[in-house]
Amino acid sequence: MITPVPPSPATPTGHSQPSIAIVGASITGPVLALLLHQAGFTRVSVLEAAPTPYAQSGGVIGLDHLSLATLEALGIPQHELVPFPSEHVTTIHITDRRETRRTQFVYPGRNTGWHQLNTALLTRLPDGWLHPGHRVRALHPGDDGTAVLDLTGAAPLHADLVVFADGRRSLGRRLLDPSRPLRYAGYVAWRGQRPEPQPNLCAFTRYEPHTSQFNLFPILRPDGTTALDWTFYLNMTAERFRYLTGYDPTHRTYLLPRQIGAAARTVVLSEAQRLLPPQAAAVIDATSDWNAAPVLDIDPPHRMIHRVGGARAILLGDALAPVRPHTARGANHGIHQAHGLAIALAQHLHHRADLTAALTAWQERCLPAVHHALHLGPYLGAAMGLGLQPSPEPVPA
Ligand SMILES: Cc1cc2nc3c(=O)[nH]c(=O)nc-3n(C[C@H](O)[C@H](O)[C@H](O)COP(=O)(O)OP(=O)(O)OC[C@H]3O[C@@H](n4cnc5c(N)ncnc54)[C@H](O)[C@@H]3O)c2cc1C
Repeated sequence: MITPVPPSPATPTGHSQPSIAIVGASITGPVLALLLHQAGFTRVSVLEAAPTPYAQSGGVIGLDHLSLATLEALGIPQHELVPFPSEHVTTIHITDRRETRRTQFVYPGRNTGWHQLNTALLTRLPDGWLHPGHRVRALHPGDDGTAVLDLTGAAPLHADLVVFADGRRSLGRRLLDPSRPLRYAGYVAWRGQRPEPQPNLCAFTRYEPHTSQFNLFPILRPDGTTALDWTFYLNMTAERFRYLTGYDPTHRTYLLPRQIGAAARTVVLSEAQRLLPPQAAAVIDATSDWNAAPVLDIDPPHRMIHRVGGARAILLGDALAPVRPHTARGANHGIHQAHGLAIALAQHLHHRADLTAALTAWQERCLPAVHHALHLGPYLGAAMGLGLQPSPEPVPA
């Protein structure tokens, strides 16, 4: 049960605390919650549809150093997320299943796993803030100037500010910005983790045959075991995806292992055996549980802040705009946006900054990065022969 948090006493500047509901407890939502906690906000609820926290499976996520610094400032030391100082990424070009060329780059350490990150965030949330098993069903203006969220398993929740960090199929986006539907980009990220004792955790490999990409990342799992985390990007028409899985790629945007049947596995594995060197295809073959994420596009957003009666609702992270995975920007956008939003709200709470002005300035800073990544994604995909060819316009600087 979610008990509405009573209005708090006024802050030293005389402002009373707004009540804030955050929808989604994956990455963007809990980062925002922790930043708000750090900034002195006390009336925050984090609503998560999944019945138990830490329930999802997820693969490798590359964080940039601004994101890692934000997390470090929240008390999550970098070594808890990234267990090595630098990483070596080897790209192997493939023709007829054989290596033709390889390049190697060294990057500062930045790759973590969704599990590590989600666990690190959720275990640090203040007691009573996280409400798993409560899916937000609807949003409407309340008589008292708040926004009202209808939830499964609890009474409606009133909030002065609702932040949707509810991912690619965001309810918030569908309600607040319905003119931007998801579009299938024509290929799928098939993913899995094969247990692997003692891999070299900082050695990452990319296989690049002409119309595909196979990423092999060793990973340390939260239970202390190690695995090879792989992602196999494969072209597939929407019709074929529907035929093989039973789902529309824009409706089921993330498939769990139980949703990937024998027909899909057989087709993906035979493509792996056609395109990848035998040792790479063997990793896929030896993995029991697979996930899948159809790659999606969306029109650029023009705003993040929306009015709901007298209250505000904001779209963040993938809820605002999912970007293609090759850009490695999705989680980073969510973290950067959350960081800026917490600062804007703290300026209002502690320094009496005009809330509309503070939020508008924050929005203007965020949107160009999102537009750039949305534009870049199709070019990165096309360079690997993945998805439909983008229009020949240049990528904005
Ligand atoms: C193959 C692949 C590789 C990627 N690699 C990278 C990378 O290297 N770097 C990077 O930055 N990003 C990467 N991403 C993107 C990254 O995973 C996403 O951008 C990130 O997970 C978005 O986080 P989020 O918290 O905004 O949304 P999500 O992770 O989608 O979380 C949304 C949460 O909201 C909950 N929810 C949904 N609806 C409701 C509701 N109605 N009520 C309550 N709760 C709800 C969900 O259960 C979920 O917990 C990759 C993505 C893929 C598919």
